[in-house]
Amino acid sequence: MTPTARPVFPFSAIVAQEEMKLAMIAAAVDPAIGGVLVFGDRGTGKSTAVRALAALLPPMQAVTGCRYGCDPEAGDALCEECRTRAKTETLKHKLVPVPVVDMPLGVTEDRVVGALDLERALSQGVKAFEPGLLARANRGFLYIDEVNLLEDHLVDLLIDVAASGENVVEREGLSVRHPARFVLVGSGNPEEGELRPQLLDRFGLSVEVKTPTDLAERVEVIKRRDEFERDKAAFVAKWKKQEDGLRRKIVAGRKRLATIELPDAVLESATKLCMHLGTDGLRAELTLIRAARALGSYEQAHTVDIGHLRRVAPPALRHRLRRDPLDESGSSTRVERAIQEVFGA
Ligand SMILES: [Zn+2]
Repeated sequence: MTPTARPVFPFSAIVAQEEMKLAMIAAAVDPAIGGVLVFGDRGTGKSTAVRALAALLPPMQAVTGCRYGCDPEAGDALCEECRTRAKTETLKHKLVPVPVVDMPLGVTEDRVVGALDLERALSQGVKAFEPGLLARANRGFLYIDEVNLLEDHLVDLLIDVAASGENVVEREGLSVRHPARFVLVGSGNPEEGELRPQLLDRFGLSVEVKTPTDLAERVEVIKRRDEFERDKAAFVAKWKKQEDGLRRKIVAGRKRLATIELPDAVLESATKLCMHLGTDGLRAELTLIRAARALGSYEQAHTVDIGHLRRVAPPALRHRLRRDPLDESGSSTRVERAIQEVFGA
């Protein structure tokens, strides 16, 4: 049974949580944004949202028999095994759902990156590689629940691979590499420990989700959840139109990415905002403009504008602020204030 065969709560039926939805859509439009961190209370539907988004995306063509689910159109970016096969045969392909891979806590590095069988390599001269979770996540989503409880070196490694799109495993002079392009989504509960600032900064976007405090909103959440649980197929059918529309927008947004214009003035504004906030390095600016470009593309704009920039600034910047001993206000407030000061009300 494929993951799409089981009804998944529709992404469009998620009540409110606009910023989380926006961040995930932006990352789906342009995975180069570098992943999304979702901080918030338990039971705010963080994992539901990732699964919903993956299920919403169109199924992909993948090379039949490839352990990494290579894109048959990838050309030079095919894995080594597919490239070798392509020399002597025509690669067949089939439609597969976009994968969502869960990263269990306490997982070993071998399980994540894959394991090289050194013994077989030495005795039989073959490169025996058992792919890990990164291979399964290729072209999809890697979801880490409670990312703040995962070992630092693993988080580092995941971000490296997500950024490069390639997993390289090296042991005793042997090396295997394979495509591993995925959107990293980490969720965390701020009460259970913090991520080191060095790791925080490496995630593209960061959003905060809260249990809704508005009565009507809360009622709507329960209503939809209840309706879904009672008859999943009917609920999915009811939301199909919205889901189809959203899917079309994401697919069109991906295409638009290549042609949308980014005026120098917008780039300058991004830099101004980052300087105003005192963010370190260039990562903040890069993420800010990439996210603005993804949002503009998703909305089918011809040009990225200040409006796009303003909307993605909080998720792109709030986790990159240095603690200011003279300013006790939260990071979201500080970003909002800087936006007002730089761009006006
Ligand atoms: Zn392949």
